[in-house]
Amino acid sequence: MHETSTTKNITVIPGDGIGPEVVNAALRIIAATGIKINAEIHEAGAKAFQKGIESGVPKDTQESIDRTRVVLKGPLETPLGKGNRSANVTLRKMFETFANVRPVREIPGVRTPYSGRKLDLVVVRENVEDLYAGIEYMQTPGVAECLKIITKPGCEKITRFAFEFARSEQRKRIHCATKSNIMKLTEGMLQRTFEAIAPQYPEIEAKHILVDNCAHQLVMRPEQFDVILTTNMNGDIISDLTSGLTGGLGFAPSANIGSEVAMFEAVHGSAPDIAGRNLANPAALVLSAAMMLRYIGEGKAANDIEQAVLVTFEQGIRTADMAGDTPVCSTTQFTDTVIANLGRQSQTASSRDYKAFRMPASEGTVDYVEATTRHTVGIDVFVESTDMPLQLVDKIESKLGGSPFKLLSVANRGTAVYPPNGTRGSLVDHYRCRFVPGEGSDVKESDIVDLLQRVSAVYTWMHVEKLQQFDGVDVFSKSR
Ligand code: NAP
Repeated sequence: MHETSTTKNITVIPGDGIGPEVVNAALRIIAATGIKINAEIHEAGAKAFQKGIESGVPKDTQESIDRTRVVLKGPLETPLGKGNRSANVTLRKMFETFANVRPVREIPGVRTPYSGRKLDLVVVRENVEDLYAGIEYMQTPGVAECLKIITKPGCEKITRFAFEFARSEQRKRIHCATKSNIMKLTEGMLQRTFEAIAPQYPEIEAKHILVDNCAHQLVMRPEQFDVILTTNMNGDIISDLTSGLTGGLGFAPSANIGSEVAMFEAVHGSAPDIAGRNLANPAALVLSAAMMLRYIGEGKAANDIEQAVLVTFEQGIRTADMAGDTPVCSTTQFTDTVIANLGRQSQTASSRDYKAFRMPASEGTVDYVEATTRHTVGIDVFVESTDMPLQLVDKIESKLGGSPFKLLSVANRGTAVYPPNGTRGSLVDHYRCRFVPGEGSDVKESDIVDLLQRVSAVYTWMHVEKLQQFDGVDVFSKSR
């Protein structure tokens, strides 16, 4: 990203509800800075669904984004109860915008319990993987499953992004927030990747924190945080919490950044109740536009806009959502005031000294991680049964004669129920049966097929997992 004076092409999606009003405000303010932008205006969301476009993203919108690689987007409605997917999720997946960046800072004149602490922090959330891959199954009519997919390449990309981002904004500290104490393989992978990459950025203090403690600390002492790196689900929750610390979603900008494409949007939705009434607060979208300008190398215009918004708040200019006792102004009046304030500096907050940074390039190949040795050391078979544990064990063992496998343990909802250990608790019709080969035996694919046939003679099985060893290390959770 470089500062240039050439015209930049961007795709603009005005969106639904209040979207066109707040996007128009941002475009007017960008134009008033004097920089040259060519905005290609395209549809997505409700209007596309109404035309029968199932993804909510028309082809010409996709083609424009492929060309410009930069999107300023208003909020998009997800129609309820019609089976439509979210056009937002479609866009994020289509262009693999794997990093969600949500900065928050204290807003002058917006009173919160944290006013005066000069909060200025950023949540960097992995945006593609985790439980949000949306891979769900009903295992039995009463037991649901959602796969939490976390990959090494995904962890590396988001960790490198977080450090490069911190470096570009001259930030001093990154907390990596995970639940690695419980989910050692998935959440633990982000922690291990973070700890491996951190030494390459010696000027940035790198700390791991358990995400539950992170939530607690954010409420108790939020000023200790600078950048928080976290997985998708954690980040979804933590970033709404951080928006609340500084006054709410009305001021929260965001960016969805990938190796090729970046999309900038307010965190709030389409607020249909106030749409078309010139009441919407455009601040979040305008601050998102400032992030976009910084991304395309227009750092001065970005700082000017950010400062003008802060000055506008310092002057006590308020849209209806934040008015309290002060007189209310319209979306247009707020926008006019920001334009009039371009070139003025805030009394309370200066802009950061930003440096340009490049995203790690996308390889265009299938990523993989090698292991020198790998062995299958057992099999977990999930079966449906209303039998009590000892009955289940008897029935399964009665079918194992001549099989290389023995039944090692049985668990229900992750709690070991066999061998008997005194555990009490309610049971559901979903058991995990762990089989290991008898001494000295190797697990062969044909043995697994044979085992499944034996189990299916007594129970319905619905899910199988290999217990693997990579480079001599067991890579599966142990029975509890
Ligand atoms: P919302 O649109 O954020 O609105 C919730 C309420 O917050 C509004 O009714 C309004 O409250 C207030 N509000 C939000 N933004 C405002 C602004 N800029 N200025 C003034 N007031 C503002 O949340 P929602 O009602 O849950 O969602 C509505 C639609 O938006 C849904 O279809 C949802 O799927 C979609 N959505 C899209 C995105 C996105 O595109 N990224 C994000 C979230 C939601 P009052 O007027 O009642 O005070």
